[in-house]
Amino acid sequence: MFSHLPVSGILKLPCRMSSSLASALPASLLRSAAYIGGSWVRSSDSATFPVVDPATGAELVQVTDCGPKECRETVKAAAGAFQVWKEVPSKERSNLLRKWYDLMIQNKEDLARIITAENGKPTKEALGEIIYAAGFLEWFSEEARRIYGDVVSVPMKDRRALVLKQPVGVATVITPWNFPSAMITRKVGAALAAGCTVIVKPAEDTPLSALALAELAHQAGIPAGVYNVVPCSREKAPAVGEVLCTDPSVAKISFTGSTATGKILLRHAADSVKRVSMELGGHAPFIVFDSANVDKAVAGALASKFRNSGQTCVCTNRFLVQKGIHDVFVKKLAALIEKDLHVGNGFEEGVTQGPLINERAVEKVEHHVRDAVSQGARVETGGKRSTYGKNFYEPTLLSNVTTKMLCSREETFGPLAPVIKFDTEEEAMAIANSANVGLAGYFYSQDPAQIWRVAERLEVGMVGVNEGLLSSVECPFGGVKQSGLGREGSKYGIDEYLEVKYVCFGGL
Ligand code: NAD
Repeated sequence: MFSHLPVSGILKLPCRMSSSLASALPASLLRSAAYIGGSWVRSSDSATFPVVDPATGAELVQVTDCGPKECRETVKAAAGAFQVWKEVPSKERSNLLRKWYDLMIQNKEDLARIITAENGKPTKEALGEIIYAAGFLEWFSEEARRIYGDVVSVPMKDRRALVLKQPVGVATVITPWNFPSAMITRKVGAALAAGCTVIVKPAEDTPLSALALAELAHQAGIPAGVYNVVPCSREKAPAVGEVLCTDPSVAKISFTGSTATGKILLRHAADSVKRVSMELGGHAPFIVFDSANVDKAVAGALASKFRNSGQTCVCTNRFLVQKGIHDVFVKKLAALIEKDLHVGNGFEEGVTQGPLINERAVEKVEHHVRDAVSQGARVETGGKRSTYGKNFYEPTLLSNVTTKMLCSREETFGPLAPVIKFDTEEEAMAIANSANVGLAGYFYSQDPAQIWRVAERLEVGMVGVNEGLLSSVECPFGGVKQSGLGREGSKYGIDEYLEVKYVCFGGL
């Protein structure tokens, strides 16, 4: 069936590495072939694409470039495996997920190195991502055993009604580069716990984390065809996406990425009416009211804005600061940025700001800064590319920003903190809620009535009150408006992979 390997067990194809960094990466987890039906597979035309270290531009590895043919074969493998996996007792599925979690923890340093190499984020942050990512396997290994149905009371004496929960089927999982590991486990943990099988198409920039997870899934004993990975280049993503999102054997699509791509996949899903979960773009407001504790607000602002060099979907994208506290907030935030943030290669000690993912991402930040400054914004700190390298941008704070500027209207996805001054709570709420997306929102206030009011009125899926970091395995992650559909993690996340079936027992 595939162009290579009827092997028993796993065939570890050698990686084609071409830089000294790649050789420093853990060979035990570095894979460059697709993982399909429990085997490491090259594409039938032997096509490959490069994975590049965003900090240096050096090529790390050439990875198999899968196309529609490989995807159709993967769907078959996943559909076959589903017939077996759905019957596996939940306790056994739970044990296998737990083993996968244990292996992630045992290999956490190596997995973190892979993230830093392909994504650029500092190793400390990469390690944090691995702990977070592994946490979803642990959490859903526990949830696997708590998939309950219902017995429903009905008015007819001779009937009883049951509600069963059953796995949806084969799930296509398409993920972005900014959390190369966690965006996979957040979906796959829930899917496997529910009894679904998955086909992961990782982002072209960061396929190595997905493949390292495949190696560990294999070691954990996850059966062949249950977790599959089909890496592909950006050029092939539309064709691959079309097969994976239209094949009749695929029952569910779970996507994390931009709103624009999410809309394409929703159109694909429509023809065969597939279940969908969408975690899309954000434009998070961070509101600082006059009553806020300014030092706490400044610390929260730094954490919320500059993690992953501003490249997370829940990163603050615009600061709204009330006029009484505005000047002191701006002054303190500029000072903290200059003191605590250090640009450099993520492998270096003390670096907090790695590169952006590629030059296009840097150009977007430059464009937003240029546009704002040309309309009167003031650069408080930063404001240009870092001398460290072409994919690096200085952490930047702009004041005197207006709602007309691009950075107030679009997701920047980079280390730019624009501050808009406001007068009243009503004005702040109107600006915050004017976006057509609504993922995360943050605010700082010490007025209890205001806290309730604003938390309830913010049109977002997640609210941080006097807190700049809110993601946690135990809590529901997701957005409203064009930020997406469905929730991941928490007790709600597994529902995305379960069907509800009503069974009516008559003639009793
Ligand atoms: P992207 O939409 O360009 O890419 C995401 C994935 O979709 C990649 O795997 C890519 O190859 C794939 N893709 C692109 N075009 C496709 C197509 N036509 N068919 C099938 N697959 C296709 O997004 P990105 O630039 O990688 O990620 C940044 C965006 O993701 C930001 O907008 C960010 O807010 C969002 N994001 C959201 C969340 C969330 O949980 N809501 C988390 C992380 C990132």
